[in-house]
Amino acid sequence: MISESINILLIDDDELDRKAVLRQLKKSNLDEMITVAKTGDDGLEKIRHGNFDVVLLDYRLSNMTGINILDTLAREKILTMPVIMISGMDDESLMLKCLEHGAQDFLVKSEVNKKILMRAIRYAQERKNLQQQLISLAKYDSLTGLANRELFLNSLTKSINKAKRNSSQLAVLFIDIDHFKIINDSLGHSTGDELLKSIASRLQNSMRAEDMVARLGGDEFAILLDDIDNIDSIAKIAAKIIASLKPYHLCNNHELNVSPSIGISTFPECGIDTESLIQAADTAMYEVKRNGRNSFQFFSDSMQLLVSRKLNIENALRYAIIQNEFTIHYQPQIDAKTQRIVATEALIRWNNKNLGNVTPDEFIPIAEDSGHIKKLGAWVFVQACNTSIQWTEQQFNAQPLTISINVSIVQLKSDGFIDELKELLSQVSLPPKHIVLEITESIMTDDPDAMVTLLSNIQALGISIAIDDFGTGYSSLSYLRRLPIDILKIDQSFVADIGINKNGEAIVKTIITLAHNLGLEVIAEGVENQTQTDFLVNYECDTLQGYYFSRPIAADEITELLKSKATSPIYNINKRSITNDN
Ligand code: C2E
Ligand code: CA
Ligand code: CA
Repeated sequence: MISESINILLIDDDELDRKAVLRQLKKSNLDEMITVAKTGDDGLEKIRHGNFDVVLLDYRLSNMTGINILDTLAREKILTMPVIMISGMDDESLMLKCLEHGAQDFLVKSEVNKKILMRAIRYAQERKNLQQQLISLAKYDSLTGLANRELFLNSLTKSINKAKRNSSQLAVLFIDIDHFKIINDSLGHSTGDELLKSIASRLQNSMRAEDMVARLGGDEFAILLDDIDNIDSIAKIAAKIIASLKPYHLCNNHELNVSPSIGISTFPECGIDTESLIQAADTAMYEVKRNGRNSFQFFSDSMQLLVSRKLNIENALRYAIIQNEFTIHYQPQIDAKTQRIVATEALIRWNNKNLGNVTPDEFIPIAEDSGHIKKLGAWVFVQACNTSIQWTEQQFNAQPLTISINVSIVQLKSDGFIDELKELLSQVSLPPKHIVLEITESIMTDDPDAMVTLLSNIQALGISIAIDDFGTGYSSLSYLRRLPIDILKIDQSFVADIGINKNGEAIVKTIITLAHNLGLEVIAEGVENQTQTDFLVNYECDTLQGYYFSRPIAADEITELLKSKATSPIYNINKRSITNDN
């Protein structure tokens, strides 16, 4: 006997054929449980939103074949029910092909009668029952096939132990379906069950294979995320879950809309044992319900603050350029021999009316992640070059001032960077030989050959390249020789060691010697006092930059500084220097 709860979907675009199949089903009193799709697209849409136990699929549809449908279902990971192909042709090779693509059975239209059809459906249903038995043996929820509470708790305990050993993070997401009880009470349990199954499969499909999705009971689900590297990615997953549940669910011919409330706890921040993590996620989930549902929330306030600050920054970045919220400060670089300002480094500043001053160390990584960095970088480039050429034109300095511009790796690696750079150069009148791009060492980590080509192409435009924060990256010395660069910038941390730590001093000396041997210029940054200055000048560092000479200052303050130093020298580097503290 075929169980009464079997849901059949018939996909067939030919009315006569459809009628023939329906007639056979009627003989077995199965015509009440059948949903009909009159095109392939309609069929796919119904499968995406519904929950069928078996699909009867006509092979030849007007704009696709049954194999196209099987492939689409497999690609979308929703080929979870048996499919019985029905074809007008009795073709052995076609039959094999359909089976290869995931069909369970192949019936020939002319031979379809009540008996054959029933046997095929029964076979499909048996298969399904067997699957269900198997999974219930292994502690899975019999309705949805997801892990049950017991399995979830066991896995969580194991994951916590692993995270303790590896000092890694993990997250628990508690998901409760908003107003589920109303649906269940008004439309009946069988519709409620269909809905739970549909929710379960959407949850499962929006997760990575290694994440555990469980049904804890009723309309409560939980997800265990192992090995989480940052809060951002958890927030993204929660948002993805909300989005995945949003399209309507087709359950017993009802189009149902649901939303979840998601509470999140993380190990070790919210607790270091199973119970406290569950408790924390549960609390956070109730907080979401209290605040209007259909959303997610982290348990810990401080974490929540961090995430929302990031989101606020990302949102504000969107409009920051058009709203003129950015400015650039310039920090002088002093030639150790002539003791004159020979260049400035452009350092971006951001003031937003809600967020106040945000440091580049905080917002640049967010701009990199969100893609805003490209526009930002282009803006800095044009602005900084145009400012620098003004100083030259005003002739406060005999030599044109060089401008050093920081370039993010994300920008550098983006497609068409060289073309964009050419385009930007055409917008400014500063000759390229007075432009330096500062790039950090980490660019060399993944594809050194590609980077060598890219840097050569930049140099071919006449622009110089400095390696910023030099000495902090990996394998610094081994790749230096093959790298097309012009300047090494000694990292501040080594400069800070001068006069304090012999190791740091040795590193500074080595970098200077190494750079000179390779024909490169050396800049020391973060110079804060006379001792450091003396040391660096003594070991023939070419250029100095740091608070000791000047903090990064606004463009017109640089103008004033250049004016005041146009006639008299400048920085008496060997004696106590003039400081300009802003
Ligand atoms: P960076 O390129 O290493 O810049 C040097 C940082 O050290 C600047 O911080 C500067 O203000 C600070 N500094 C300068 N002299 C001294 C000193 O004597 N002592 C100390 N303790 N610090 C000093 P800032 O301006 O906050 O910039 C931080 C970072 O943000 C920069 O590090 C750079 O990586 C990034 N950045 C700044 N502007 C831009 C930009 O326009 N584009 C990109 N992609 N990154 C930028
Ligand atoms: Ca820099
Ligand atoms: Ca630096």
